[in-house]
Amino acid sequence: MSKPIALYALDANLDIEECCQNANYWGANTLILSPDLYNEPELPSLLEKYNLSLWLNISVLNNPDYLIGEPSRQAITNLKRPAKTDWCHFVCPSDRVYLNHLESEIEQYLEEMSPTIVSLDFLRQFVSWQGKAFEQIEAQDLEYGCFCSNCLQNFSISDHYTNQAQAQIEAGELSSDYANWRSQKILDIAQHLTQLIRKLSPKSKLVLNTLPWPDGVLNHASTQLAGQNKTELALLFDAMCPVAFTHLMPQDMQEKARVMQTISDETHLPIFYGLQVSHWRAKNQISNNQFEAELKQNLALSKHGLVIYNYDELNCSPEKATILKRHLNPEIHY
Ligand SMILES: [Zn+2]
Repeated sequence: MSKPIALYALDANLDIEECCQNANYWGANTLILSPDLYNEPELPSLLEKYNLSLWLNISVLNNPDYLIGEPSRQAITNLKRPAKTDWCHFVCPSDRVYLNHLESEIEQYLEEMSPTIVSLDFLRQFVSWQGKAFEQIEAQDLEYGCFCSNCLQNFSISDHYTNQAQAQIEAGELSSDYANWRSQKILDIAQHLTQLIRKLSPKSKLVLNTLPWPDGVLNHASTQLAGQNKTELALLFDAMCPVAFTHLMPQDMQEKARVMQTISDETHLPIFYGLQVSHWRAKNQISNNQFEAELKQNLALSKHGLVIYNYDELNCSPEKATILKRHLNPEIHY
């Protein structure tokens, strides 16, 4: 796989030609486009004209649009609340009807296009950190799921079930037996979906978007709460893309480099770095200087690839687009 420099461009109403032209001019070589654009007849020729590869990103368990029509299929947290925040809403991972729906969507996407990369996003259990910055999160802040009646019933007839686990769940305590069952559920979905995608689109490289949290932080929240058993999951994918954006992790660049190295050591897979153009929750804006410094660090350290979030923000920020072009596509245009 050549080293992807990928731009998220998920707006279904964007001007595709302008987007392809800009991405190419700035020096990106891959676009992560909304599948709603896959049936645009001019898409394949535009990608070819501007020398761009296509990346399909599939949101697995975070699906707010689906849950508007099917609210009973939502995941439930340990505090017995809907598994949602202001920006996500999770479906229960045991819900077979939803997974069938997702599979048929994937079949449809891959019938229309053969993306160079397919990534699975939100292939994890729900975790909420109450909107806090990484350095302010305490382990007890974390709300997680799924604890719906369907999951609890399936757990009760599984090999992981113990009386101790039942008592811990009833007392609202963390149960490692239930955590292991929830991790296995994520692994089962991963096995199923990766097998399907490899069958339908054998040339696509498969990437897992994962939390940018090494296993050791926050009482092993990544594995115990989010079900990210990275050692096992890594066996199913070709690369890892920690969602290393500023709202999820420390902004300090050395710390970010350490996190990426730790996840590389944990998974033994190529790691794609992430770069945000602006902070989408607008609490902590990213200056042009910080953007350039992070871009330079990412280009120096990332041997395998880089994803940039996102196209719309670059379009609104000509200074940052110019910085990007200066590093990625530096030839002078008169
Ligand atoms: Zn559930």
